This record gives sequence, C-alpha cells and structure tokens, in this order.
Amino acid sequence: MKGVALLGATGSIGTSTLDVLERHPERYQIEALTANRDVASMAALCIRLRPRVAAMADASAAAELARELVAAQCPTEVLAGVDGLVAAATIDGAEIVVAAIVGAAGLLPTLAAARAGRRILLANKEALVMSGRLFMDAVATGGAELLPVDSEHNAIFQCLPAGFPRGLDGSGVRQLLLTASGGPFRDTPLETLATVTPDQACAHPNWVMGRKISVDSATMMNKGLEVIEACWLFGLPAERIEVVIHPQSTVHSMVQYADGSLLAELGRPDMRTAIAHALAWPERIEAGVAPLDARSLGRLEFAEPSLERFPCLELAYRAARAGGGMPTVLNAANEVAVAAFLDGRLPFPAIAASIEETLARCPSNEAGDIDAILALDAEARRHAEEACARLAGHAA
Ligand code: NAD
Ligand code: MG
Repeated sequence: MKGVALLGATGSIGTSTLDVLERHPERYQIEALTANRDVASMAALCIRLRPRVAAMADASAAAELARELVAAQCPTEVLAGVDGLVAAATIDGAEIVVAAIVGAAGLLPTLAAARAGRRILLANKEALVMSGRLFMDAVATGGAELLPVDSEHNAIFQCLPAGFPRGLDGSGVRQLLLTASGGPFRDTPLETLATVTPDQACAHPNWVMGRKISVDSATMMNKGLEVIEACWLFGLPAERIEVVIHPQSTVHSMVQYADGSLLAELGRPDMRTAIAHALAWPERIEAGVAPLDARSLGRLEFAEPSLERFPCLELAYRAARAGGGMPTVLNAANEVAVAAFLDGRLPFPAIAASIEETLARCPSNEAGDIDAILALDAEARRHAEEACARLAGHAA
C-alpha cells in the first residue's frame, strides 16, 4: 500500500488522478489533498475519501472547510496557506506526491516534496520552468524520483531506454519531438484573433483541461513551457527538442534515435493514461481508458508550427536558449497575461506582445536560490501588469 498526497485535488488533473486512485484501493491510500478555495468540492472529497489532511491555500476557505467537516463529523485535519500546502506535500506516509496545482503557486509545495525525497508525479510544469536548476538539484539531493505526467513528457519517458533515469549519455537519442494539436485557433484567420473570447480559447479541440492551460494551448505557450520542461527533465538543450503540429493528438510525442528509429507513444487524449503510468511505474495498471483501436485511427497528420501564428512558441525558445532567469520571467509574464485575457482585460494577440515586453525589461541573470527566484517572479509580474495595462489601453 502506497500513500499519496494530491496537490490540486479539485482541478482537472486532480479529478483524473482520483479516478485512477479509486480504481486501485488495494494499492493506494490517499493521505492528503490540497486546493485553493473551492470549499464545496474539497468538503465532498474529504467526506468521501477521509484523507488525514486537507490544505486550502486560502485561509478563509480553510476556516469554512474546517466548520463543514466538523458538522459532517469528518476527522480530516484542515491546514491553511502556503505552510499548509507544504505540510500536505511532505506528510508522513505519502511516498507519492502528485503535483497538480496550476502555476507558480505550486512551486513551494512541489519543491518541498523534492527535498523530502518523494516520488513526484509532475503535472505542474510552471514550477519546473520557473526554477529549473534549483528544482532539479533539490530532486537530486533529496533523493526524489521525478516522473512526468504531462502527456508529451510521459510519452517520451515511455520511449526512452530503461536506463534513462541515470542519464541519456550513450543512449543514442538524437532528438525529442513534442507533438502539439495547434489548439482551437490552428486555422483561424490571423486578423480575427484580436476578437476571440476566453470561452473560444478554452474550447480545446481534443483535451478537456483547466482554463489557464487551455489558453496556453491556444497561444502554444503551453508547448513552449513544455520545451523548457523537457530540457530539464531529460537533460537536453532546446536545440535537440522540436515541436511538431499533430492535430489528432493521438501521437503524444516521439524520440528520434541515431539509427533512424523514431519511437512514439500513441493513446487517447485522456490524462489518466499518463497518470496511471507514472503512479505504477515500472509496473502497469488499469487506468479506465478504453483501448485505442488501430484500425479506427484514420489519418495522422504532422506539420511545422507557424511562428507567425504562434509567437509565444518563439518567445519560449528564446527564453530556453538564453537560460538564466529568462524562463522565470517568461512564466510569470505569461501567467499575468493569461489571467488578464481570461478576465476580459486583454485581447488575445496582446498576450504574446506583453510577454515580449516583459522579457525585454527584466534582468535575465540566473536567480540562485528560492528567495531570488520568488523576487524575480514578483518583479516580472509587476512589469507584466504594466505591459498588459498599456496594451489593453491601446486596444480600447
Ligand atoms: P485546474 O485549473 O483544473 O486545477 C488547478 C488546481 O490547482 C485546483 O485544484 C486549484 O484549486 C489549485 N490551485 C489553483 N490556484 C492555486 C493557488 N494559488 N494555490 C494553491 N492551489 C491552487 O488546472 P489543471 O488543468 O488541472 O492543471 C494543473 C496543472 O497540470 C497545470 O500546471 C497544467 O499545466 C498541468 N497539466 C494539465 C493538463 C490537463 O489535461 N489538465 C495536462 C498537462 C499538464
Ligand atoms: Mg502537455
């Protein structure tokens, strides 16, 4: 029996993870759950699953949850704030930590789990992008195991040689190919992008996901963040990681070898496959996902992404190549711009424009410790808010 701490339990990945865990009650015991402020969902989860601890990032939501659980005679202990999230991420008895908080808010608890030497199932790519070297050092010194849940990286992990966790030297890997659907605006006329709405941006053709990552998929910043994520996870420079548009989302990503072999993992667009793979690795367990019928696949198409249509992809490559603090700034600027777009304050094309401005205004040297990373993140957010306000003014 393995204990699990699930960070971001009320979200899209959180819900998929619970679906897989509940199929295997003889293997997994849920020890801790976290969420931001959704009290009703968290109360229902606590009453059903009886974790030892539930942490809410928002203090007043935590107080409300505690009252509800007392009324329901549920014994789960309620914790609050960042300290509560960190305590949940490092709770005794949870050797597996699922990192499924969205955005920079996931960094401190995920980093704490790395330092505590847990098996981390990483969905929260922003945490790794903003703190790459520090995070990977924490994994190494904490003796943690970092397994990718992001479908592309999970696919690549499945296509790498069994000895990969000791490094890619001598493995014959030439390059990694990340597939991207191209999102809902893959064929939208460029001149109409200025008027697309948040709901249109969140209507992903193949995957159902939280709103932030859905917008990231529409701009392809998601793929840009994934390039940086892949650099750290697999220890390769950005030059050896390519992006291929694949509208069907059936091939989840590929690994090209020196001998000409191209290995791919195929599956349905259902995150439970990657979650189940990382939970049980190196074993395989049932995920609740129907098998893919090869005869019904039809056409699988692959194409080069257009950097004119997807300037965020180019910005992310620039940040990946520059390294240092640039990925931290990129991530912060993107989070601010996406929030402004989702609030209706910023037109869609201004997301990329505001990120580019912020990259130009922020220092790009590497922040060496966690305080310096958080300070750079905060500085980038201030510049990004200014850039968004200016660009929103232009559009009005
Ligand atoms: P979501 O918005 O559905 O859920 C986010 C979760 O994080 C919720 O439980 C929410 O309560 C919590 N949260 C939000 N803000 C918080 C804060 N300030 N402090 C603490 N907790 C907070 O998002 P999602 O789609 O599940 O994505 C989660 C992460 O997984 C993201 O990093 C995303 O990029 C990554 N991811 C998601 C998918 C997917 O299919 N949804 C696929 C690959 C990677
Ligand atoms: Mg992905």
